[in-house]
Amino acid sequence: APSPAAALLAAEDAHVAHNYHPLGVVVASGSGAVLTDVDGVEHLDFLSAYSATNFGHGHPALLAAARAQLDRVTLTSRAFHHDQLAPFAEALAALVGKEVVLPMNTGAEAVESAVKVARKWGYEVKGVPDGRATIVVASGNFHGRTTTIVSFSDDPDARDHFGPYTPGFVTVPYGDLAALEAALTDDVVAVLLEPIQGEAGVRIPPPGYLAGVREVTRARRVLFIADEIQSGLGRTGTTLACEHEGVVPDVYLLGKALGGGIVPVSAVVADRDVLGVLRPGQHGSTFGGNPLACAVGRAVVELLATGEPQQRATRLGERMRARLEAMVGHGLVAVRVRGLWAGVDVDPALATGREVCEALARRHVLAKDTHGSTLRLALPLVITEEQLDHGLDQLAAVLAEL
Ligand code: PLP
Repeated sequence: APSPAAALLAAEDAHVAHNYHPLGVVVASGSGAVLTDVDGVEHLDFLSAYSATNFGHGHPALLAAARAQLDRVTLTSRAFHHDQLAPFAEALAALVGKEVVLPMNTGAEAVESAVKVARKWGYEVKGVPDGRATIVVASGNFHGRTTTIVSFSDDPDARDHFGPYTPGFVTVPYGDLAALEAALTDDVVAVLLEPIQGEAGVRIPPPGYLAGVREVTRARRVLFIADEIQSGLGRTGTTLACEHEGVVPDVYLLGKALGGGIVPVSAVVADRDVLGVLRPGQHGSTFGGNPLACAVGRAVVELLATGEPQQRATRLGERMRARLEAMVGHGLVAVRVRGLWAGVDVDPALATGREVCEALARRHVLAKDTHGSTLRLALPLVITEEQLDHGLDQLAAVLAEL
């Protein structure tokens, strides 16, 4: 008879759409930085569900918040008020220094919501002629998978054969301030950027870029929307990646870790002069802002409000940086590190990112390649020094064998 893992892999192959190419590990449980597979083998999680499980698996405070809310009420829709929404919104707004929260579920929904809000703001506040609102985005972006969002992707896999595409977007090279400034015509209502591009391989823009974007958008009366869905909520050692440049955008998009790895929770967070353009009936979501999501989201905000996860990410991130930089010239050609987040470029003459991830998985460390020979590491912020060292020892060993 096939092993439990083999049977599950075969059934998944037969009955699940092939829109992912997972590593061959079948997870049964998780705790902290460890995932245990159906054969009882333990693996170190070096991906954190693309930063959605920043606080590790089964965090006690997050589970307690979820369990308590499960026994009370989990869904009302926004047709009625419930007692979890206001405390969540108030705490989240305070955490990031804004006034108003628009709760949604997935990251893509937060991005879509921001596109709608920016267009409406453009027509009703800035005075752009109807139908002309333009949003400037960056090359190499990743903001999600909906038809509108893939319309402004430049990744052929994300985009090809999903047209016709939504108009109203202009792409400029990421990190090039002069190109961005030149794109700011009178019809531009917003600039939408990842402060660090995650999917593109943890690409960090040149120093001063985000501050420059802030300056030119303010001067041209254009909203600066920071997609912090992957970079935010402790990942880089700060609550928001924009803080590294001392930049305060008009709009933050949050998701992933906001749901504590338990429920999908995303949000658009901004001041009232922006989010106030939405009136009843103009936007919504059956599940957005549901009681369970708000209870978990508030527990996430409470963790971050202590500053402890961010400090850990900074401290352990420096350890990770030192280890990774020592591997440059020994199988790696470059590394980019912010907090516990790293883009790791393997020498393309030696191996693809996928091959390295498969070799790492055989050593029970789970990571994900992104484009070509790049790995993206996003370590749980609760990882121990010993676990971090062990995982990076495995990477060094894999590179030594190439
Ligand atoms: N924005 C960024 C920066 C992301 O990294 C992602 C997901 O990877 C998204 C948006 C989309 O989030 P979701 O997959 O929850 O729709």
